[in-house]
Amino acid sequence: MPGFENSHGGAADRIGPAAIMECRICWSAYDPAAGDAYRQVLPGTPFAALPDDWTCPTCDAPRAQFMLREDPEAAADLAHVEALSAALVADFREIWHARMRDVPLVNKALGVEAVGFASHGGRPLGVLVSPWCMNLVMLPARGEDWSALVPGEKEVIGFPSGEYEFLHNVRPMVGGYKACSLFSPMADFASQLQAVEVARAVMVQLFLAENRAETDRSAEIRAARTAALAEAAPGADAPDAAPSRRKVISAGLAGDTAPGTAR
Ligand code: FE
Repeated sequence: MPGFENSHGGAADRIGPAAIMECRICWSAYDPAAGDAYRQVLPGTPFAALPDDWTCPTCDAPRAQFMLREDPEAAADLAHVEALSAALVADFREIWHARMRDVPLVNKALGVEAVGFASHGGRPLGVLVSPWCMNLVMLPARGEDWSALVPGEKEVIGFPSGEYEFLHNVRPMVGGYKACSLFSPMADFASQLQAVEVARAVMVQLFLAENRAETDRSAEIRAARTAALAEAAPGADAPDAAPSRRKVISAGLAGDTAPGTAR
């Protein structure tokens, strides 16, 4: 949204076209559905598309004085995140009961849980904890169809902390998703609480640019994945053939919350 960032900082990127804005001087609202008849702004004009010299119809305050009151897009994004992360959990619970319960490498102290899922440019992003793996998972945005993803296909996705290799996969309930393996198996975790704390820490570390030098080693990650894939059948759901902690953003995190230090 060119010319818009200055007045609202980074938050402007997240304001949808239907967002209702409010003057912080007199509390008058600008609703895109209504437009501004006085200034001949047509209904359906997003706040970001208002002329630069547009001012508050009531108090004449400059456009920069307007702040977000309500964003229907953000509310819909939130509902989408909740629905899709719940479907992901349902899929992994089904895998757990159908295929994984009797696999020796599973950690029976753990359960399937979606941690820290939030909209990342409209796409739900968070960490899925299970008794056999911890994955960073990206899900499709509203209206996006990932059902044709090819399971086992790789994709490198960039975050402020570095580049991460994701594997594509498709499940009956959630549909297509992209998963970056953080830990597998999960033997090092003493409790669900500890695993969830590590998952929360991952979601923070992922967006810290200061981690970039330490984590920017996609070639090394790719080599590790290739070795694991050579031994295991494609698919992110099976425990890796060579059990190893993924030192991506997860480097040292399990150790930081070792048994005894977990709250
Ligand atoms: Fe005003």
